[in-house]
Amino acid sequence: MRPTGKLHLGNYMGALHNWVRLQDEYECYFFIADLHALTTDYADPSGIAPNTREVALDFLAAGLDPEKCTIFIQSKVEPHYQLPLLLGMITPLGWLERVPSYKEMQENVTNKDLTNYGFLGYPVLMASDILLYQADFVPVGQDQTAHVELTREIARRFNQFYKRAGGSEILPEPQVLLTPSPKLPGTDGRKMSKSYGNTILLSDPEPEIRAKIKPMVTDPARVRRTDPGNPDKCPVGDLHKIFSTPETLAKVYEGCTTAGIGCIECKSWVADAIVSALAPIQERREKFGQDPALVTEILADGARRATARAEQTMQEVRAAMGLTGISAS
Ligand code: SF4
Repeated sequence: MRPTGKLHLGNYMGALHNWVRLQDEYECYFFIADLHALTTDYADPSGIAPNTREVALDFLAAGLDPEKCTIFIQSKVEPHYQLPLLLGMITPLGWLERVPSYKEMQENVTNKDLTNYGFLGYPVLMASDILLYQADFVPVGQDQTAHVELTREIARRFNQFYKRAGGSEILPEPQVLLTPSPKLPGTDGRKMSKSYGNTILLSDPEPEIRAKIKPMVTDPARVRRTDPGNPDKCPVGDLHKIFSTPETLAKVYEGCTTAGIGCIECKSWVADAIVSALAPIQERREKFGQDPALVTEILADGARRATARAEQTMQEVRAAMGLTGISAS
């Protein structure tokens, strides 16, 4: 995850919530991608360190457990600088220029110059992030599958050129592990996103959460209190589907479609549900926030474990690519 600052409900439901479940089922590596942040924010990196800290706190607050998974900062693991260089040698330029987000971002982002080598190469950085751990699966949403596909192509090309001495492949092609990411609207009804300014943060205190939900857009059919509405056409209804109990959801459908409840009441119920879903997360955030030394130690330990694992891959990659130094014979 890129260090974008404090995480919001959209980040939580789209990724973190699934990761917490996956750490019990797989050997997982989760990291804060500060090198990725540099591909676009190179001119002003002042936000990267504070944002990295906030994301680390949110990882731990959400329930990622350093006893069950490896949590680290990308730039603290040297192989993340090394493998992109080596994979860059074999990645055709055309593959990178074809990545849809490359052109899209170059056209849409007007306040930054993205004609840099690092930005063009970020899919190689991303492929390295995965291949360094010889990963079987990458947990992503539907919108990220193209990146995993490119990673598979890079691995395939690497394996065509280089093999282990016995002939087996070094870089397995990772599979997509599609994780459910329910539609999570922001307070203005559009997708929840930091760039729209419509987020509810995992760390927002209760009054802030209620204040953000109160003016939320609703089903436009409910102009007057007496007009019936439809929760399926209302962003508040979408939030209820994710956070409310089946009993509350039934009350929402009944009350909304018959104009038996008002939107203000309905919003207060969804605020209750979100506040109670976030309570254990905020409690953990508070605990880790008061102990920066512990967070630093968790990340340092994660970096040590990640380095050890990634270095195994690098040794095989270096040997296969002829980087063994002077031959004895
Ligand atoms: S009652 Fe609830 S679900 Fe229905 S329109 Fe109002 S806020 Fe939306």
